Amino acid sequence: MAEAIPALEIRNLHKRYGDLEVLKGISLTARDGDVISILGSSGSGKSTFLRCINLLENPHEGEILVAGEQLKLKRDKQGDLVAADGKQLNRIRSELGFVFQNFNLWPHMTILDNIIEAPRRVLGQSKAEATEVAEALLAKVGIADKRHVYPNQLSGGQQQRAAIARTLAMQPKVILFDEPTSALDPEMVQEVLAVIRSLAEEGRTMLLVTHEMNFAKQVSSEVVFLHQGLVEEQGTPEQVFDNPQSARCKQFMSSHR
Ligand code: ADP
Ligand code: MG
Repeated sequence: MAEAIPALEIRNLHKRYGDLEVLKGISLTARDGDVISILGSSGSGKSTFLRCINLLENPHEGEILVAGEQLKLKRDKQGDLVAADGKQLNRIRSELGFVFQNFNLWPHMTILDNIIEAPRRVLGQSKAEATEVAEALLAKVGIADKRHVYPNQLSGGQQQRAAIARTLAMQPKVILFDEPTSALDPEMVQEVLAVIRSLAEEGRTMLLVTHEMNFAKQVSSEVVFLHQGLVEEQGTPEQVFDNPQSARCKQFMSSHR
């Protein structure tokens, strides 16, 4: 039987800022239902890697495939790779859901309007349709009663749950989380992790940059440890957390317990 087409495949991704090469050839494959945690010290290139996947940053080498469709790239004057087909980029971007550290909700819109905006504009849903989906998602993340308030009236944990609902409303094939709990007060971390855990249990395909080691160990199907722009170690949570092989990964694990 033929291998199933991966939800996301990254091949040999390189990124530099001027003379600084931040990513030095990273490859990663996420199959349907995979939860891949990406660990590494500050500055190891985790955010840059996620941001290159939907061309928020332009890599200078590499290939990106979403559900088997290769993102068409061309070289610009600086030698970076940029989208060769803007329409394709927009479509592929809508298939990759991003959840950032700082929520990034639109402050001048209610929570409901934050969630229905992109499904209406990008997916062409009617207001009634988008609202019905949004209300179900707000219930799912536990803030159905907050739909008519503005982001600044919510706690950080509630804002992040709203941001997750907004991402889900676009029906992404893959969800990419960049330190989704790092900006939260400690008492709000668990409520956001609980939502992410429920997504993992539903079989969503996710990449997760996090410093929540216990959580990553529990929910991940695979763990990738980055060091200085390279995959230093990769394996099951048991392998990488409990039995790291490289000196740097060992040191990282022992300093994050
Ligand atoms: P991480 O998310 O693992 O902490 P980042 O991907 O944010 O790491 O950063 C990796 C490296 O790239 C760091 O050395 C950082 O200083 C550098 N870097 C990130 N963004 C930029 C930028 N816009 N311009 C120049 N250097 C950058
Ligand atoms: Mg980062």
